[in-house]
Amino acid sequence: MQVRHHRLAPAAPGTTRELVSLHHGPTDRGRKAYLQASLHADEVPPMLVAQHLRLALRQLEAEGRLTGEVVLVPAANPIGLAQHPLSQPQGRFDLGSGENFNRHYADLSGTVAQALLGRLGNDAAANLQQARAALAEACAGLPATDELASLRKTLLGLAADADLVLDLHCDHEAVLHLYTTPEGWPTFAPLAQRLGAPLALLASDSGDAPFDEACSTFWPRLAERLGMDADQLPGRCLAATVELRGEVDVCHRLAAQDAQALVDFLAMQGFVDGPAPTESKHAPPLALPLAGSMPVRAPHAGVLVFLADCGERLAAGQPLAELIDPASGACTTLSSPVDGLLYARASRRFVRAGATLAKVAGREPLREGRLMSA
Ligand SMILES: [Zn+2]
Repeated sequence: MQVRHHRLAPAAPGTTRELVSLHHGPTDRGRKAYLQASLHADEVPPMLVAQHLRLALRQLEAEGRLTGEVVLVPAANPIGLAQHPLSQPQGRFDLGSGENFNRHYADLSGTVAQALLGRLGNDAAANLQQARAALAEACAGLPATDELASLRKTLLGLAADADLVLDLHCDHEAVLHLYTTPEGWPTFAPLAQRLGAPLALLASDSGDAPFDEACSTFWPRLAERLGMDADQLPGRCLAATVELRGEVDVCHRLAAQDAQALVDFLAMQGFVDGPAPTESKHAPPLALPLAGSMPVRAPHAGVLVFLADCGERLAAGQPLAELIDPASGACTTLSSPVDGLLYARASRRFVRAGATLAKVAGREPLREGRLMSA
């Protein structure tokens, strides 16, 4: 295993932060998997799963069983890890710019298409090699004038040439669930099942360029810009975001279980030599459109009392929470907007007007535009 230290552009004189990446397995087999933990730095479960995973990967490497490169970034956001305004962790938004750490990753398909003009032929393998080299060059050319831009550039540079990318997050309170593209779903469905996820939410473009989509949508966009068919440019990266339950679901039992599911998935994808993993004991998950995930918002501020748990299937109109104004005593009952699965809830129990309290995944794609929360 090789440990690499990536120094970020300093935010101010006298300060430097670094990102650490762990590189396992052979780099000459033409296969690479990339996993990162806690890009939203206040989402802790992925960092514990990464600790279990690094031990498992080290063991597999020592046994000579890794058959492709596996890169693990065990704490993907050193900027966010250091943000504690008024003693409260704030790892979702960069306090300097207000930007979400998991948005606005660069679309490099235009730059790479330009660089490849007139250079590709009928040899698909050679085309792929040229495209990957041009992509690495485009990543290296991204501006890194501030610390946040430097972090985004470093993460994208580490992941861009991978075949598989897994971005590990968590929600406030939630069942385990995944986000990916419809194209990625057949590959990630067995992972979701092994993780015991009851739900995956699918979208081709959820808006604002989150990390996983920047990695995966590059290839179809490049092929489209070049007017090429998939067989002329076979390279592609499939990527998913895995939400490892809620923010306080941090324990060794769950982390060990999740890390084992990830190792089994890597084995199924041909990264590990040895007997095939045993059948998953979990039921196959539901795959629903992200556009059918309906937020339930607070019509006024108040004390939040849930009437339904994460993982419950609700009928449209079924009460899921009460919101009590402590000054007036008024109580509003909030109901599920659709038939669906209550998969995530807020973790705070006093909420401001307009806050998202819960998310219910339904079958009908009722929303459009930006599909992710802020
Ligand atoms: Zn997150």
